[in-house]
Amino acid sequence: MTATYEEKKQRLTESLRAPGDGGVRLGKDTSNLFRDRREARTKRLDVREFNNVLRVDREAGLVEVEGMTPYAKLVAECLRHGVMPAVVPQLKSITIGGAATGCGIESSSFKYGLVHETVRELEVLLADGTTVVCRPDNERRDLFYGFPNSYGTLGYALKLKALVAPVKKFVRLTHIRHTEPGAYFADLARWCGRDVNFVDGVVFGRGEMYLTIGEFTDHAPYASDYTYENIYYKSIRARAEDYLTTEDYIWRWDTDWFWCSKNLLAQNPLVRRLYGRKRLNSVTYTKIMRLNSRWGLTRALNRLLGIHAESVIQDVEIPLARAPEFLAFYHDVVRFLPLWICPTRAYDKNARFDLYRMDPERLYVNFGFWDAIRGRQKLPPGHYNRQVERKVIELGGMKSLYSDSYYTPEEFWRIYNRPAYEALKRKYDPRGRLRDLYAKCVLRE
Ligand SMILES: Cc1cc2nc3c(=O)[nH]c(=O)nc-3n(C[C@H](O)[C@H](O)[C@H](O)COP(=O)(O)OP(=O)(O)OC[C@H]3O[C@@H](n4cnc5c(N)ncnc54)[C@H](O)[C@@H]3O)c2cc1C
Repeated sequence: MTATYEEKKQRLTESLRAPGDGGVRLGKDTSNLFRDRREARTKRLDVREFNNVLRVDREAGLVEVEGMTPYAKLVAECLRHGVMPAVVPQLKSITIGGAATGCGIESSSFKYGLVHETVRELEVLLADGTTVVCRPDNERRDLFYGFPNSYGTLGYALKLKALVAPVKKFVRLTHIRHTEPGAYFADLARWCGRDVNFVDGVVFGRGEMYLTIGEFTDHAPYASDYTYENIYYKSIRARAEDYLTTEDYIWRWDTDWFWCSKNLLAQNPLVRRLYGRKRLNSVTYTKIMRLNSRWGLTRALNRLLGIHAESVIQDVEIPLARAPEFLAFYHDVVRFLPLWICPTRAYDKNARFDLYRMDPERLYVNFGFWDAIRGRQKLPPGHYNRQVERKVIELGGMKSLYSDSYYTPEEFWRIYNRPAYEALKRKYDPRGRLRDLYAKCVLRE
C-alpha cells in the first residue's frame, strides 16, 4: 500500500531529527540546477516519494500537490481535469517545489507572473524537522513571501497549493517577425495587453526577432508534431501560423531543450534517429551533461585544442524600457544565438517577494541564454558572466540564481535583500543546518 502524505512526512521529519547535527541537502533523482557543487559530507534527505498530485479542484482553480512532483506528472494529471498549472516551466523534470523557490517562468507569465506568484499555500519542512504551513494571510506569511529565491536554504516545500487555469484542446500559434528591437519590444508590450493566452519570443539575429502568440482553440485544421523529426524552434522562422495540441505546446521546448540539444548532436537527423523519440528530452540531455561534467570530457578536449570556454547559462529579467539596451549589449558581448524572450509582470500588485524584488507596476522581459563562449585567450573566471551581472544591475533587472554567479557579497546582498534574509534565517534555521544563500549560489558550497 502506498503511504499517505502524512505518513511520508512523519518518516521524513523523524529522519531529519535523528542524531547527527551536520548539514542537510536534498536527495532526489533529477535536478535542473546548472552549477556544479562541491561535494560536501551532508545528510541527504530522501524526498523522492513526495511526487504525487493530491487533488485537482477545477472549480476552485487550484491543485494540491507534493513538492517534488515533476511538472511532467503534474501537467498530465491537470490536463485530465481540463486545466493546466497557470505557469509551467519548460522542462519536464523541473519540480513544482524547485520552480517555486527558483523563480520559474513561461509564456503565460505575462498574465500570472513567475511560478511562485501562482502559489497559494506552502507546507515547508524546516531544518529542525518541524513543518509549517505558510500562506499570505497567516502567521507564517514572512516565510511565504521569503521562500521564492531561497533555493532550499530556509526549508523545503513538501506540499503546495497552486493556481490552475482551464485549457482547450489546441493552441494556435502566430509567429510575428520583427527586424528592429524598438518595434519588437513595443509589439511585445502591446500583445501583453491583449486577451491572448501565451506570449514568448526568440531572437535569431540582430535583425531577426520573433514574437510567438498562443491562443487556445477547440478546433484546429491540423496539429504539428515537434517531438521527433521536426524541430520546434526551427519552425518559428519557417511559418507564420501553426497549431499544436495543448500538451505539445506546453512541452514544445523540452524535446530539444530549447535549441541546446544541438550541443549533444541531437539535431543531426542520423543521430536523432539513434536517440529515438523517447530519449529526445531534457532528462536525457541533463544526464549526459552531468556525466560529461563528472568525467571532464569537454574540459580535456578543450585543453588539448588550446580552447578556453566559459559557460554562460543565465535567465535575467530586464524592465521593458531597458530591454533594447540589454539586447544591444547581448549582441556585442555574449553573442551566441538564439536567445529566448519571455515577458512577465506581477500577478498581484500588492504582493512583495522579499528575496526577489521586482517592481509590481512594470512589465519585465526575461532573456534566457544557455551555452558556452569559447576562445583562444585565457580570461579571468566569470569574465562574461560578470559583465552580464553588471549590466543587469545597471538596467534595474534581476538575475536568477540557478546557475553560476560571481557577485561580491556586498553586491549580492544589496540585490537579494540581506536584512530580510537574515531575519528569516534567524527565525527558521537558527542553527544554520541549511546553507546560506550566498555560500550556496555563489561559492557553490
Ligand atoms: C538550461 C536551463 C534552462 C532553464 N530554463 C528555465 C526556464 O525556461 N523556465 C524556468 O522556469 N526555469 C528554467 N530553469 C530553472 C529552473 O526552473 C530552476 O533551476 C528550478 O529551481 C529547477 O527546479 P528543480 O525542481 O529541477 O530543482 P533542483 O534543480 O533539484 O533544485 C534547484 C534548487 O532548488 C532547491 N529546491 C528544489 N526543490 C525544492 C523544494 N521542494 N523546496 C525548496 N527548495 C527546493 C534545491 O535545494 C536547489 O537549490 C532553467 C534551468 C536550466 C539549467
